[in-house]
Amino acid sequence: MAYRKPKRKVCRNCKAIIDKDVDRCPYCGSTDLSEDYSGFIIIVNQENSEFSKKLNLKEGKWAIRVL
Ligand SMILES: [Zn+2]
Repeated sequence: MAYRKPKRKVCRNCKAIIDKDVDRCPYCGSTDLSEDYSGFIIIVNQENSEFSKKLNLKEGKWAIRVL
């Protein structure tokens, strides 16, 4: 049995990675979504994350680059 990765979408506006069934970004409300992105950052602890401080990201998954 082959395991298929569920497809994700990424918001072009704020680069949030969201579920494929979502039509609107839950973070910024944009409907400009892409299915192509390369690389992502997962912020699990906003308070203690250097990444999130540097990039000003909230908890969640964020694409590094939207294609
Ligand atoms: Zn967004």
